[in-house]
Amino acid sequence: MGKQKGIAILGATGSIGTQALEVIEAHPDAFLVEVLTANNNADLLIEQALKFKPNVVVISNEVLYQKVFDVLDAEDIKVYAGHDALNQVVEMDTIDIVLTALVGFAGLKSTISAIDAGKTIALANKETLVVAGDIIAALAKEKRVAILPVDSEHSAIFQCLVGENANPIEKIYLTASGGPFRGKDIDFLSKVTKEQALKHPNWDMGAKITIDSATLMNKGLEMIEAKWLFDLSAKQIDVIVHPQSIIHSIVQFEDGSMKAQMGLPDMKLPIQYAFSFPNRLASDFPRFNFLDYPSFTFEKPDIETFRNLKLAFEAMEVGGNVPCVLNAANEIAVEAFLQDKIKFMEMPNVVENCLNKINFVAKPSLNDYVETDNETRIFAKEFVKSI
Ligand code: NAD
Ligand code: MG
Repeated sequence: MGKQKGIAILGATGSIGTQALEVIEAHPDAFLVEVLTANNNADLLIEQALKFKPNVVVISNEVLYQKVFDVLDAEDIKVYAGHDALNQVVEMDTIDIVLTALVGFAGLKSTISAIDAGKTIALANKETLVVAGDIIAALAKEKRVAILPVDSEHSAIFQCLVGENANPIEKIYLTASGGPFRGKDIDFLSKVTKEQALKHPNWDMGAKITIDSATLMNKGLEMIEAKWLFDLSAKQIDVIVHPQSIIHSIVQFEDGSMKAQMGLPDMKLPIQYAFSFPNRLASDFPRFNFLDYPSFTFEKPDIETFRNLKLAFEAMEVGGNVPCVLNAANEIAVEAFLQDKIKFMEMPNVVENCLNKINFVAKPSLNDYVETDNETRIFAKEFVKSI
């Protein structure tokens, strides 16, 4: 084995970040932690830094800088604070791979800096591709940087494409669990609480993506993510509900042949694959047993009830700054739902109103995306207040 790969984890204290550290801990010969960052969870960041001894940590919330510094300075770990620090640390020479495991639009600028610096991206932060996929894809191409998907569906597609060289994709099927409210009607959904929405049947994830999974917005964001990762048109992307979450996604080629990637739902697998690509590393993750799953089932997603998926599909088809509007409106809607300001079924209303309100930009610059994001947030917050 060659030298250890140096890893920077943006969002180390979250669901993906902590699982990435478990992967690294299991393979100390292969990986080395160079950078750990967090937004607010200083205690866990300190604990992780004491254990993994990175070169640098970043705490985005500046108020918490002193607390982190007081413990880690004695350990010879550099401590930075503030949102701009993320954009700088990803450029460090000792980093090979940047895992983008932070949530939402907040990941955009640091992902761009990391690509600019020529780092391989292990991409969990799907919102970055939803907002500015055209800019990210073009920059990665220009800098010859690989974007390795961590999202399980996209990792599945990526794994199915290994060895296919230039064989064109006819279409892909993104599988969806259907979330905690699969099969429920509007009447039921209008009364659900955030506690119910935060219980996902198959995956244990951060709060924002768990709510997105309950509204099916997550699958909408994933369609747009797939469009940019695999250079597909909207027509080539389909969603199929597969409640067992064993088939993680499917690629169909021009001869009609279909390849799927399967396994028990465990995010450590796609995280590890992104880190070890093009190799596979041994793992002790639990193995699948066919006899525990006598049947796999498939359904059409109910886009009339779960309107977010329909809105996301329309946003993908129109393009321009519309997916950026969709994402910002959704971030505000989810936050408002988690703060009990709006009801479950009002989340798509926030998104739809923003989509109707914000001016269309056909070929946005990075600055246009930042402005669109700002404007949408302001409008979405006003709309939330008016509900
Ligand atoms: P999480 O909420 O558990 O963790 C988020 C991490 O990002 C934390 O470390 C937090 O400190 C940091 N963070 C949050 N906001 C920030 C900001 N404004 N600036 C800097 N840091 C910030 O989230 P998660 O579930 O781990 O998801 C992370 C990303 O991975 C999301 O984009 C999500 O869609 C994607 N993803 C997650 C899963 C999963 O299983 N959790 C699966 C697929 C994709
Ligand atoms: Mg996913």
